[in-house]
Amino acid sequence: MILRQLVAIGLGQRVSSLVTRGPLVEMTRSASSDMSAFRNVFSKAKHIAIITGAGVSAESGIPTFRGSAGYWRKWQSQDLATPEAFFRNPSLVWEFYHYRREIMQSKRPNAAHLTIAECEARLRKQGRSVVVITQVIDDLHFQAGSKQVLKIHGSLFETRCVSCGDVTVNQRSPICDALQGKGSPDTDASDAKIPPEELPRCEKNDCHGLLRPNVIWFGETLDSHVLTKVETVLDTCDLCLVVGTSSIVYPAAMFAPQVASRGVPVAEFNINTTPETTRFTYHFPGPCGTTLPIALARHESEVI
Ligand SMILES: [Zn+2]
Repeated sequence: MILRQLVAIGLGQRVSSLVTRGPLVEMTRSASSDMSAFRNVFSKAKHIAIITGAGVSAESGIPTFRGSAGYWRKWQSQDLATPEAFFRNPSLVWEFYHYRREIMQSKRPNAAHLTIAECEARLRKQGRSVVVITQVIDDLHFQAGSKQVLKIHGSLFETRCVSCGDVTVNQRSPICDALQGKGSPDTDASDAKIPPEELPRCEKNDCHGLLRPNVIWFGETLDSHVLTKVETVLDTCDLCLVVGTSSIVYPAAMFAPQVASRGVPVAEFNINTTPETTRFTYHFPGPCGTTLPIALARHESEVI
């Protein structure tokens, strides 16, 4: 039920202070970086939940538009990824998302994506499961071959009609003629000022409503259908990995404590370490494209 209370929390917000009361107080201990101990736990796990964040995509060279270097023109994600920005200036917001869609054409899954997908396929043959719960909106998990992916923030390659609500997969490049050649991230690029009728429009029946990216924007609540599936995964997993995002920062901070409170091991794979990661069972610092292939490699006990 923790999830239900926290669905409206802003993206990127630290929520650890809200969710660390109760059982976690008793769990204070040093997080271990003992890979062989982790491998032993991994070899016995039947249902593995893998929470992934922006760090996984960053290792494929995908900008996040967050932090000190993350600008598109003069804006960051939190300036444009809002319903207010879209309804004030849909042309500008579509330019931003058009740019993000187009750069994906030159990006490829990295070792972390590929390891997760390979692990899922391998364990499935053994009657075991791997489910990815991700905050990223690109499609690199899918490209890598992952089948079970819960995208809590939606997808760059889906649209949603603001009139009829229809959600459609859309891989077109460009997504509409008017955006051809637009979306430059340069600070001196001028806004395209595309009229709304020339922006992506709904093609369902005679709707013609304005389309928006089907992503969760700042200030919006998460999709309840996706969250229900996430809850089921968290309630049934017997091992949880937090990859490319700190377990104390949203969204993992919503999920990992819920798993840890059941006594289920939580292992963090992240470039950074923080003192508070000691609240979880394992912590493996470094690029997840380096640590994950070791962690999820075939174990000697796997016979298939
Ligand atoms: Zn529509």
